[in-house]
Amino acid sequence: MIVGIDLGTTHSLIAAWREGAPQLVANALGDFLTPSVVGLDDEGRVMVGRAARERLQTHPQLTAALFKRAMGSARAIRLGEQAWRAEELSALVLRSLREDAERQFGEPVSAAVISVPAYFSDAQRKATRIAGELAGLKVLRLVNEPTAAALAHGLQPQAGDACFLVFDLGGGTFDVSVLELFDGVMEVRASAGDNFLGGEDFDTLLVQAFIAAQNADPPLPDLAEPRVAARLRREAERVRHALGQQVCVTFSLCHDDQQWRRDFHQEELPALYAPLLARLRTPIETALADARIRPAELDDVLLVGGATRMPQVRKLVAGLFSRLPSLRLDPDHAVALGAAVQAALASHDAALDEVVMTDVCPYSLGIETSINLGTRVEPGHFLPIIERNSVVPVSRVRRVMTLHDQQTEVLLKVYQGESRWVCENIYLGEVCIEVPPRPAGEISLQVRFSYDHNGLLEAEVDCPLLGEKRRLVIQNNPGVLTADEVEQRLEALAALKIHPREQQANTLLIARLEHLYQASLGTLRERIDLMTSHFEQVLDSQDEQQIKDLRQQLNARLEALEQGGWP
Ligand code: ADP
Ligand code: MG
Repeated sequence: MIVGIDLGTTHSLIAAWREGAPQLVANALGDFLTPSVVGLDDEGRVMVGRAARERLQTHPQLTAALFKRAMGSARAIRLGEQAWRAEELSALVLRSLREDAERQFGEPVSAAVISVPAYFSDAQRKATRIAGELAGLKVLRLVNEPTAAALAHGLQPQAGDACFLVFDLGGGTFDVSVLELFDGVMEVRASAGDNFLGGEDFDTLLVQAFIAAQNADPPLPDLAEPRVAARLRREAERVRHALGQQVCVTFSLCHDDQQWRRDFHQEELPALYAPLLARLRTPIETALADARIRPAELDDVLLVGGATRMPQVRKLVAGLFSRLPSLRLDPDHAVALGAAVQAALASHDAALDEVVMTDVCPYSLGIETSINLGTRVEPGHFLPIIERNSVVPVSRVRRVMTLHDQQTEVLLKVYQGESRWVCENIYLGEVCIEVPPRPAGEISLQVRFSYDHNGLLEAEVDCPLLGEKRRLVIQNNPGVLTADEVEQRLEALAALKIHPREQQANTLLIARLEHLYQASLGTLRERIDLMTSHFEQVLDSQDEQQIKDLRQQLNARLEALEQGGWP
């Protein structure tokens, strides 16, 4: 079985291609969305998903979230006693999703297509592949998230020839793509985005407004303390969601028997969110301009990502495009469904023979060059070789000349980005080639860049005079694990103990109770304490039916409490 996986910053999903259609897989708790959160339980066993997310506040040292942001970097993420890399934590999420799919269908997962934000750099894409490998998956290919979302929509029966825009605002990333569906061929005309813009940035604004509203009495607790910081984030997200339905919601923080509050009103949100709403415009304008499409030419605007549920975001989109955006698919599901479609495509399912995909390279790729200004030579300029939004696979050649008399080698530094200065772009690697000493400008070199469907770049430099070729091996890239390191980490991951699946629902309930206990005061606290002890007692009895009944009862009570907001 081949699966499609949406490995999200905040949530991940897995879908499989079954009987001619993509089908979502539910996790051990019956949810399609698994929070991309990894934790260790009190016995050092790994847990993934909701229970781990619930423990972010109560056990911050034993829980890790938002690690997709660190993909492609060598950043160490502390979890328990150990330092982890983002690939490893992602691998644990992938492994848990894989197990869900294997349980549901009773067959092994042989390979996967994993989605990545269109703006992911090469190092980030490689890290995603490695995460797949660490989870024991053969990664057939990576697919850009907006492409996957469009693919999911493209399979709807009402689709004919069309041009549309995918607007994906998730927890931490924003992607815009312009796509065209013509004669059963889907083409991404352009994509643009922002790697650091998502729902959690709106939460940050709410937290700031909450803090600004407090006077010094009582003084706020240390906001850098992980528990306090995590609780603020969590409360901000709750308030932001609730403000989708309610006109006024109270933001409250309880700590050390003190409480701080601030009311948020729907009507103040447009002004509060304005700086972020403004940032949503630029990538839209860039994508439309690159695709040479006017907003009026779009047949449809697809909203993807949980944060597009915010009324202020929908209103902005409706205003920009003078129409109501399409909500044919659940905004949270589209990417995973599309990744499964892509998985089927990659494995040549007959039902999909007709659909051909093309894609684009989301950023310009080029080399550092110097410009001769007559009186002096100015280094540090960017010479694009593959322009952003070129259709992939793409291969482009440019000729460069030697700059100095008698120089014996040429060093080509490869960058990605849109600035005319390389120092403002992202350095990818370098390749050096020897040349025969001649006067400046006499030796010419061919530089070929090839960029493929997986977002991998190969740079080749060729000195026709010598018949020499050099291929780029990206060196000094601390963001990417070597094959040996992957091997070592595979072993380490294989040795980890996993929190038992059948206990997940119980663990989640305990985690929710502990969290609620910490977040509340007074008599409610005592009631929660009693509820927790009662549940633990019933757990000890090992009577499955009794455990299940009480769990359902307590979950319902917690649900009701949460609906009403934290008291
Ligand atoms: P990612 O692709 O980054 O994992 P998702 O598409 O799952 O993200 O979106 C997660 C974001 O969606 C979070 O910031 C979450 O707060 C937000 N979100 C989910 N549901 C709602 C809602 N009802 N109202 C506002 N925001 C929501
Ligand atoms: Mg997403």
